[in-house]
Amino acid sequence: MEPKFLTSLLTLLLLICLSTIIDATNEDATRKTMEEFSGYPTDSHHSILSFSLDSFSVESEKLQGQIEELSTLSDSPAPSVTRILYSEKDVLARRFIKGIMKQAGLLVREDAVGNIYGRWDGSEQGLPVVATGSHIDAIPFSGKYDGVVGVLGAIEAINVLRRSGFQPRRPLEVIMFTSEEPTRFGISCLGSRLLAGSETLVNTLKKAADAQNVSFFDAAKSAGYNLSPDDLSNLVLEEGNYSAFVELHIEQGPLLEEEGLSIGIVTAIAAPASIKVEFEGNGGHAGAVLMPKRNDAGLAAAELALAVERYVLESGSIDTVGTVGILELHPGAINSIPSKSHIEIDVRDIDEKRRNSVIEKVHESAINISQTRGVKLSEFNIINQDPPAASDKSVIDAMEFATKQLNLSHKFMISRAYHDSLFMARKSPMGMIFIPCYKGYSHKPEEYASTEDISNGVKVLALTLAKLSLE
Ligand SMILES: [Zn+2]
Repeated sequence: MEPKFLTSLLTLLLLICLSTIIDATNEDATRKTMEEFSGYPTDSHHSILSFSLDSFSVESEKLQGQIEELSTLSDSPAPSVTRILYSEKDVLARRFIKGIMKQAGLLVREDAVGNIYGRWDGSEQGLPVVATGSHIDAIPFSGKYDGVVGVLGAIEAINVLRRSGFQPRRPLEVIMFTSEEPTRFGISCLGSRLLAGSETLVNTLKKAADAQNVSFFDAAKSAGYNLSPDDLSNLVLEEGNYSAFVELHIEQGPLLEEEGLSIGIVTAIAAPASIKVEFEGNGGHAGAVLMPKRNDAGLAAAELALAVERYVLESGSIDTVGTVGILELHPGAINSIPSKSHIEIDVRDIDEKRRNSVIEKVHESAINISQTRGVKLSEFNIINQDPPAASDKSVIDAMEFATKQLNLSHKFMISRAYHDSLFMARKSPMGMIFIPCYKGYSHKPEEYASTEDISNGVKVLALTLAKLSLE
């Protein structure tokens, strides 16, 4: 071994030792910050909070005002909200969000498809980021809270922490994801899917066009995002960029309200699989063709729809759900035997195997029906089959810690709708915070969450982010 090499090796070892010592010192500093912040020693549960929760306050009126203002950036009249990807209103809404992020002192940047990031640097350089966020696009004639609470509420959570004098160790980041809703190009969670990395999606987007035949790239360009297919592939997040991701969202179901609880701690997100099926028969005159001579594509579809329900109910779990939301018959005349049918099936579960076994049975059933009814199964296409995601224990613990500190009632629950969190879970430990919404309504103008529930959600989010940023 050359002496020069030996010296370098010794220097390296010395550096490693030193950095370990520095790390240990920093850990002490961290603990102190957490104690100062929460007002009690982190490893003791019986100390009294010196930190008054009054100083940990949400400016509810201001937040409600922002929610109202954002809801006016809509292509349908109030109280409904319609905000479609890359539309004029979407562009205005993005500008509005960036403005509020800047007011909160966040460092704002945007990626190629318009995911917007607002960063608050931590006290220690180079650590993975603790992030939160959601979406602000809205399907036609929907409400003003879905997604919005998790973006405007997240920025307010940052304000809450700033006002309380908190200093994060890891950077905190608010993300507004592009196009969670599939309205314009038929792809849900477009922004977060690209961050998780999906070459299939990149290829789909190369050919994608909306109902007016505007391509994805032209639509993006019209909104100021002049991007190339390569830009899409480059969006994928590096492993380890994020140490946690938490999304605040209205429940979109009735459980919290029915049970009178303030907070839902989401332990898993059910994932959908969507399937398109087409049957073809000979059709014919409703009077002239006798029953034994028919091969009715409509009845084949009806039989398959009932089979979906049967296999879902037979799965043995209440968490398996299946829906036939589209059933179209051709030519669609009362006196004509359907010669073509088109059905779309959505099957969801938190258990991927169980969900996929339902899909297999539906597929076998479609083949059998086509044989017994003498129709052609011209299409059986699984459009997407996303895996479900489980929340990470570290994030669940932080959310539970926050809820208990704030003395808020809570329950552990499953998200049956899916969210950007499902895709962020592929790149980061993930968790979600639910708040109650009126009768569980969502995706319609009656969607509503009370100021108090939103404020509780913001506080839980703030404390969760604080805890995760110090870990
Ligand atoms: Zn949403």
